[in-house]
Amino acid sequence: MARIAIFGGSFNPVHNGHVFAAREFLRLLDLDRLIVMPAAVPPHKQMPAGSPDDAARYRMLCAAMDGIDGVEVSDLELQRGGKSYTYDTLLTLKEHFPKDEIYLLIGTDMLLSFDTWHRFEDILQLAELGVAIRSDLSAADRKAIDRTAEAFRNRYGARITVFCNDVLELSSTTVRRMLFFGCGDSYLPAPTAEIIRNEALYGLGGNYRNLAYPLLEETVLSLHDENRRAHAVGCSRTAKDLARLYGVSEIDAERAGILHDLTKALRPQEQLRLCEHYGIMVGDYTPDQYKLLHGKTAAAAAEKIFGENEAVCSAISWHTTGKADMTLLEKIIYIADYIEPNRKFDGVEELRRLAYTDLDAAVLLGIDMTIDLLRRDGRSLNRYSLEAQAYLRTGRKHL
Ligand code: FE
Ligand code: FE
Repeated sequence: MARIAIFGGSFNPVHNGHVFAAREFLRLLDLDRLIVMPAAVPPHKQMPAGSPDDAARYRMLCAAMDGIDGVEVSDLELQRGGKSYTYDTLLTLKEHFPKDEIYLLIGTDMLLSFDTWHRFEDILQLAELGVAIRSDLSAADRKAIDRTAEAFRNRYGARITVFCNDVLELSSTTVRRMLFFGCGDSYLPAPTAEIIRNEALYGLGGNYRNLAYPLLEETVLSLHDENRRAHAVGCSRTAKDLARLYGVSEIDAERAGILHDLTKALRPQEQLRLCEHYGIMVGDYTPDQYKLLHGKTAAAAAEKIFGENEAVCSAISWHTTGKADMTLLEKIIYIADYIEPNRKFDGVEELRRLAYTDLDAAVLLGIDMTIDLLRRDGRSLNRYSLEAQAYLRTGRKHL
């Protein structure tokens, strides 16, 4: 009786985390074969617009897994087409391997929602679940997993193995974003990176310079997490309104507004990688301030990828901290980010009122509020915010 496991996913694209996980699965579960199964249409999530077709995803996956003993890539779900229900897949595999032991590999969050899967009770009859958990899982999370596993065992006679697998914390979404910013290669097996480059997948090699606003907005929003999109649009609209009021270019304001958080969805380690890529010095930022770097990386990408002008890029660059002696557009983006209609916090109404009557007073109040909050939380203060505060307190004459 052979031990076979199924490792399913979108693999859009396959990345080093997947390859690492595949090797670990083989070793930890002492498998005879690991079948990597790209889904045609994943039942639980939508494939983002602009994703490569099935054939390209399959080719990238085969290239990534090539040469790993015991691993094979199956196009069963791609051939079947339509929604890729695991139940259907397991039925077919059970016909192929009637005497073998079949494991279905899933992650922790999948176990917790497993009872929402199509015909999950039948799945539990066809396969044993292999639940990969991280070794640094909190005690509470570990307890939740054990409780859920126990409930499935008691209620449905499920066979479940929970095992530690410290997979690389990396998502295909992050990889797609980093590909767009021109530094995806280090997340990818070399043969996969080559296919992406040669076939210009994931927008590689596209021309994004001087896009008309609607196209710019669409492209930028595709790089955001869903819950940040309304904020970017709100900031853009508010900045445009303020630009009209204060006599600055509405076009610049609208573009800077939509672009200001372009790289916000990236984690600190990706921010640092982008800083390296764009030659941005990070010395003025302590590690707990790396989140602020998204202003710098967004500005660099706005210039290099979208070809935005200096005024726009500078406003994006300083929106997180402010600085001494800001231009009108820099102030507008700083405050639009703070007061756009999706913002809800104590004092926002006063800030909104001031933004339309006394821009400097509004920016100063915004900076004061940020600094107060950081002080209250015992967090470090960035030097540029302190300089902006000092400048606005003493040198408000320049407007
Ligand atoms: Fe921001
Ligand atoms: Fe923002």
